[in-house]
Amino acid sequence: MTKARRQQNTAGQEAAALRQPGSASRLQGEQRQARAYIGIGSNIQPQEHIRQCLALLAKLPHSQPSGESPWYLTRPWGIEQQPNFINLVVGLNTGLSAPALLCATQAIEQRLQRVRDIKNGPRTIDLDILLFDDAVIETPNLIIPHPALLQRDFMLLPLLDIAPKQLHPLEGRRLCDLSDRIQYHQIIEQLPQP
Ligand code: AMP
Repeated sequence: MTKARRQQNTAGQEAAALRQPGSASRLQGEQRQARAYIGIGSNIQPQEHIRQCLALLAKLPHSQPSGESPWYLTRPWGIEQQPNFINLVVGLNTGLSAPALLCATQAIEQRLQRVRDIKNGPRTIDLDILLFDDAVIETPNLIIPHPALLQRDFMLLPLLDIAPKQLHPLEGRRLCDLSDRIQYHQIIEQLPQP
């Protein structure tokens, strides 16, 4: 089908749909949903901050969390003299664009009073966008797939818990076939379900 024909068809389908009762608001509200995976970590009152973070993610516009990995106790990466972290990964179906999702996750970090004084230091919450559909993005502010995804066990293993068959868009291979790439083994144990 030609592009012009495709556009004509879409316009025709929308016009037809708009004639159905109640469909106007449905069309306005419809957005393409992407599937994003977000890594979450905290080592300052981690249980409390992670719960608050999950509640805030659930309130993001045009977004529904779907899938939460087990919680893992992990050794800190970078600076060792700080408390252990809790890490997990959540899935999010979202109508937000990847840059808009980054703004939203950074707003959650601010809301939970994340202070960026020491790189890799203690933090109330850290949110990393690991994957966004099969997007490959490289801008000054946003890199997807997250560059550390295959290197750090606390990113890859919880993601494998909820999306084992997921493809890595740059590698073109399933994540479950890439776990031998892990360079940093920080996980101490999987925590009992909270
Ligand atoms: P961090 O100190 O780990 O929280 O890194 C935060 C910085 O990483 C921010 O300036 C973001 O703009 C940048 N960044 C690049 N790619 C990503 C990503 N996939 N997820 C989250 N932050 C990212």
